[in-house]
Amino acid sequence: MAATKSPQGILFVVSAPSGAGKTSLVRALLEGDADLQLSVSYTTRARRSGEIDGQHYHFVDQDTFEQMVAADAFVEYARVFGNAYGTAAATLRETLDGGQDLLLEIDWQGARQVRQRFPESVSVFIVPPSLSALDARLRGRGQDSDAVIRERMDKARDELSHWSEYQYLVVNDRFDQALSELRSIVTAERLRTAQQAARLREPLRSMLES
Ligand code: GDP
Ligand code: ADP
Ligand code: 5GP
Repeated sequence: MAATKSPQGILFVVSAPSGAGKTSLVRALLEGDADLQLSVSYTTRARRSGEIDGQHYHFVDQDTFEQMVAADAFVEYARVFGNAYGTAAATLRETLDGGQDLLLEIDWQGARQVRQRFPESVSVFIVPPSLSALDARLRGRGQDSDAVIRERMDKARDELSHWSEYQYLVVNDRFDQALSELRSIVTAERLRTAQQAARLREPLRSMLES
């Protein structure tokens, strides 16, 4: 029997205003899904308490980041809240070529660059139930100063204004419902004919020949 080429992994992009719950949702999604990897971004932002270098982000200084930009090491990068964030090209290629699905948690500027470079990628925008809920969640997270929270709230409208560029919208009001909707998107994308063709071509051919 001819060897079947395994399909490329699916590239998922998730964006949301800061505090909408994307990190919590993505973490829960990954816990129950061994075939989905999270891309660890490079950033010049200061590490928050509890954040681990190499796990939440690769924390680098401005010089290192600029050297990586010059070396074309990023598939996308952007400045968000005065810090630089970027997605490394090498890990992205390795994961997708290995047939694993990869999820990027990036802002709308990065999502736009990824959409251009990978038109087959799947983008999801997480919508907060209201601006007041967003404010309450940022405060409740207890990680950012008042000034940082104000800045993130000011930027929330800017991020929200890009909602229509995404293929899927998930409102994160009730967490469990949002999580199950996110899971449905991943499942549906994996069930696409193009994703399943390599695996099912042989059994289908033998059914058709019998
Ligand atoms: P969060 O909003 O609480 O998750 O705060 P972060 O400081 O972790 O992220 C700040 C912003 O940077 C968010 O909009 C992220 O989506 C975005 N971001 C994180 N990593 C990347 C990246 O690799 N590339 C781009 N373009 N944006 C990123
Ligand atoms: P983001 O990564 O988008 O900035 P987080 O995942 O850090 O957001 O969530 C911000 C805060 O809101 C966290 O403290 C989180 O526990 C809380 N949160 C997330 N989803 C919900 C929800 N559906 N209802 C209430 N609080 C939530
Ligand atoms: P935080 O600093 O709170 O972790 O993230 C702030 C914002 O940066 C979030 O909106 C997050 O999605 C975005 N972000 C994180 N990593 C990347 C990345 O690699 N690229 C881009 N473009 N944005 C990112």
